[in-house]
Amino acid sequence: MARKKESHLKQTQDLTLPLTQLKGVGPKRAMFLAQKGLHTVLDLLFFTPLHYEDRTRITPIREAREGQSVLVRGRVVSGREERFYPSRKRLFKIVIEDGTGPLELIWFQYRRPHLNRFARSGAEILAHGKVQIHRSGRQIPHPDLTLLEKGRPEETLGFFPVYSAIQGISPNLLRTVMKGALEISLPAVVDPVPRDITKQLGLPDLATAISSVHFPPGNSDLSLLNGGQTTFQKRLIFDRFFLVMSAIAFRKNFRMRVSSPSLSASSKIFQEFEKQIPFPLTGDQTRAVRDIIRDLAAGRPMNRLLLGDVGCGKTVIAAAASFISIRSNRQAAIMVPTQVLANQHMETFLGPFKGMGFRPVLLAGKLKASERRAIYGGIKNGEYNLVIGTQSLIQEGVSFEDLGLVIIDEQHRFGVRERALLDRKGQNPHLLVMTATPIPRTVALTLYGDMDISFIREYPAGRKGVVTRLLTEEKKRWVFEELGRRMSEGQQAFVICPVIEGSEDEDLKDVQDMAQRLRKIYHPPYRIDLMHGRLPAEQREKTMDAFRRGAINLLVGTTVIEVGVHVPQAGVMVIEHPERFGLAQLHQLRGRVGRGTTEGLCILMGSHTITDKARTRLEVLVANDDGFEIAQKDLELRGHGELIGMRQAGLGELDLGEMMREEELFTGARQYAMELIDADPDLHRPEHRILKGFVNSVLAKPIDV
Ligand code: ADP
Ligand code: MG
Repeated sequence: MARKKESHLKQTQDLTLPLTQLKGVGPKRAMFLAQKGLHTVLDLLFFTPLHYEDRTRITPIREAREGQSVLVRGRVVSGREERFYPSRKRLFKIVIEDGTGPLELIWFQYRRPHLNRFARSGAEILAHGKVQIHRSGRQIPHPDLTLLEKGRPEETLGFFPVYSAIQGISPNLLRTVMKGALEISLPAVVDPVPRDITKQLGLPDLATAISSVHFPPGNSDLSLLNGGQTTFQKRLIFDRFFLVMSAIAFRKNFRMRVSSPSLSASSKIFQEFEKQIPFPLTGDQTRAVRDIIRDLAAGRPMNRLLLGDVGCGKTVIAAAASFISIRSNRQAAIMVPTQVLANQHMETFLGPFKGMGFRPVLLAGKLKASERRAIYGGIKNGEYNLVIGTQSLIQEGVSFEDLGLVIIDEQHRFGVRERALLDRKGQNPHLLVMTATPIPRTVALTLYGDMDISFIREYPAGRKGVVTRLLTEEKKRWVFEELGRRMSEGQQAFVICPVIEGSEDEDLKDVQDMAQRLRKIYHPPYRIDLMHGRLPAEQREKTMDAFRRGAINLLVGTTVIEVGVHVPQAGVMVIEHPERFGLAQLHQLRGRVGRGTTEGLCILMGSHTITDKARTRLEVLVANDDGFEIAQKDLELRGHGELIGMRQAGLGELDLGEMMREEELFTGARQYAMELIDADPDLHRPEHRILKGFVNSVLAKPIDV
């Protein structure tokens, strides 16, 4: 046993070596690499190229055409710095010749000692870059150079990896460093994916994949390479999917095995609940409540996600679940991301849902020590049976008498880690997660792969919804008139700006500026106030409450007002620079208006310089009001490179575009991960040791406890 530990340690040590251990990397270069997030050899191995250049063929200089990227090989004829007076401009020029003609290599920015190494007359060099035709002949500005030393020219031909640029590190240097890293570390790479799985999929082992992704074999296909479709690239993609899905499968399996007190709800209790609420439930709401009743009675911890667009009525579901919990004499806790939301829920439970036996307490924001002690005491001794709060809920000191149910509202702000921390507050409490973040199926299976899902698609009757229009600045007058007209009818309004103040981008409207301008247009008795992330929390709280009470007519703010706030009188929203926001976020924002019985209006105020691409994206919002469709389209339009907040979920990062593009690989990874965990739930088998390490690092609750 001890020996096994030792060998594992050695392996990880090799890969976590600091980069200064590599040849050619001193403290200064290490710092440049660190700025790119590259600290260890392992980081470097997974720093994969953006694309590849075909440098397998040398082009005779005479055949190099304008605009073409070519690799040429020649001898240096001359090389020196040239200065121009009086402008004091300078450039560095090396002329090479290959028997078919001369070529000028020029630099406008350079370090002279570096170029002097190549500028020796007679030296043989390889130069790569884009050709341009100049008065004086063929040129390549800022080429990539390799000095050909005698006897090893072939080694420098091949598919050249191009990495995301790193300040202070030239592409050539990076490749050299990478080579060194691979040499010393490849033997230490241990494959977390069992060999039989990769075999079945026809994928190489991890070490081969890593080495080939940096230095592709000579017989590779350039278009496959640049499309990310070679087996070794797929292998690395599979790796990301597989590791994350293993962690999720593990968590799911773990929860299935523990038991939880069953909270049974007879139909009588449900009827009683329905009688107490001020409206009949919609069909979807009823189905969701039935799902929950079934889960709560099953003897295993409920682990359910309630997915429903803004305003579809999730709070009442939370109330139903909490009601069942307190009727079994177990406490319920509701965690929300902001104080404003905590207040709002508190008011709901003290207002429309009062008289149902709830004894709620609010745990949010700063409390005096004595207050905190009193509240903690009341939670501990069961005086309160419903605790509503922010992250304060998962703090050390909070302990419950008997926590039966945990509800997390607006889940997108919390991750797996927070969920796991809340879990620990009770004896495997039941968990209900609610979110309005519309997400495509693939993403749901990842972020919430360990949960059962209930959807709410239906809106409560009588809700009018919101009409969205995309306008440009020429329509500004009309917009201000419309805003004024609606306010005169008693509607409240939002104006949303992307930043707070003093942005580098002159054009960008900021909240303070905007508020000032609006005050010149709408005079008292209209009240205009502002709201942004730099205001003290208490003030934000006050402003938001004032707006909810109707004491403010127009609120100018950033996206801090985004989440969950419910103001029926809010009828109109103007969003400045909508192109700066994600579609899902815009959809959430506009969900703040039109929640009453009049139709809401959302105006996306595009600048006149708005690009066609941005316009197309925003049109999606105008044409759709289904959040799930919007999310799907948004992803399709954004393409790859978009990272999902898996890091916030404690799972690292996954590229969303990659998941959608490689759906088959993803589904495979998910399937294999689940089978593996089913067969070895505790990851006891020696061949799963590395995988176990990963799963442990991802989950707050370690496997071995
Ligand atoms: P969200 O899903 O965004 O959290 P809320 O729970 O805040 O939505 O509900 C929005 C509004 O709809 C609230 O005022 C709530 O009282 C009301 N509501 C919820 N369900 C119904 C229903 N079945 N019939 C009528 N109104 C409802
Ligand atoms: Mg809500």
